[in-house]
Amino acid sequence: MIRHSDPWLGDEEIAQLTDCIRNNWITGGVKVKEFEERIAELCQVKRAVACTNGTSALFMALKAMGIGQGDEVIVPDFTFVASANAVVLAGAKPVFVDVKEDTLNIDPSLIEGAVTERTKAVMPVHLYGQSVDMDAVLDVADDYGLYIIEDNAQGIGVTWDSVPTGGFGDIGCLSFYADKTLTTGEGGMVLTNDDETADKCLRLAHQGNLGKGRYVHETLGFNFRMTDLQAAVGLAQLEKLPIVIDRRRHVDQLYRDMLRTIRPKIDKRCFNVPYRTLVMVDDPEELRLHLAENGIETRRVFCPLHQQPYYSQEGQYPNSVYAYEHGLQLPLSAAITDKQVEMVCKSIKQYYKESK
Ligand SMILES: *Cc1c(COP(=O)(O)O)cnc(C)c1O
Repeated sequence: MIRHSDPWLGDEEIAQLTDCIRNNWITGGVKVKEFEERIAELCQVKRAVACTNGTSALFMALKAMGIGQGDEVIVPDFTFVASANAVVLAGAKPVFVDVKEDTLNIDPSLIEGAVTERTKAVMPVHLYGQSVDMDAVLDVADDYGLYIIEDNAQGIGVTWDSVPTGGFGDIGCLSFYADKTLTTGEGGMVLTNDDETADKCLRLAHQGNLGKGRYVHETLGFNFRMTDLQAAVGLAQLEKLPIVIDRRRHVDQLYRDMLRTIRPKIDKRCFNVPYRTLVMVDDPEELRLHLAENGIETRRVFCPLHQQPYYSQEGQYPNSVYAYEHGLQLPLSAAITDKQVEMVCKSIKQYYKESK
């Protein structure tokens, strides 16, 4: 069985976790602090605040920017549902815009048309490990005074014009879910260059109270804390990140060499860290079943947000719909071997032949 994604765990993670168990480090402490500092350094931001997952990171980011009731946030129609859910859970309204046909990332030229007097922020999502055109997003955000909240859940290691994604906007968010480039099982982080914003996030994650030992809570907060056990796994993963990035780029390139109609197309200004490679076909469900019969697990792509049962609404999002109706996510992780990639491509070519 070739899995669509596998975490790559081993002795480094075991050693880190053993360290936690031997020292009774099972809630947030030294490992979380070190992990935050290392991630901030990697992403070239001043502050990083760890939390439970990417969704809570987005929620905290929105709250820290003061977004809530009556506000609108511009979100790409083609993304994981968490991007929009965080906006709704923060009390605001997500407004969807289409993505670009080639990169599958938000089309910056459509942002202006979606701005109203209620628009407070835009949320570029660096999908599939490729950066959004940040020059264009920065321009339009500047013109309309919008906050930029980057959903960088799939974008660790990615750069735009040599600058790491996640640090362009007012605040950026990472996810460390099991199938992301760097994993802690579940986990997330908020990135910012503003101390006040970082402290707001810390308070949100710590029941509104940063002082230990006194039950006086200055603000409203929740428990969004990461544990040292998670951070320990993250620290081990960080050591392997350069290898993981190389592997992911290599696997993606193999797919591109062996197959046609691959997405996303990569903008030259971006150093991408492939999260998934998509092949575009007439009937992705039929191909998915064919591959499953051959022991290859694949995933369909995100259902456009405007078609999600909860968000169901009218609107013209042709590129988002096209990606959904034709895209299939091929297996991609640092753990997959060249041989397995060849098997996937062979099976796809066989499908093409049979369906002719
Ligand atoms: C994974 C992901 C999230 C949410 O992260 P979780 O850690 O699963 O909560 C948000 N946005 C995008 C684009 C993602 O891929």
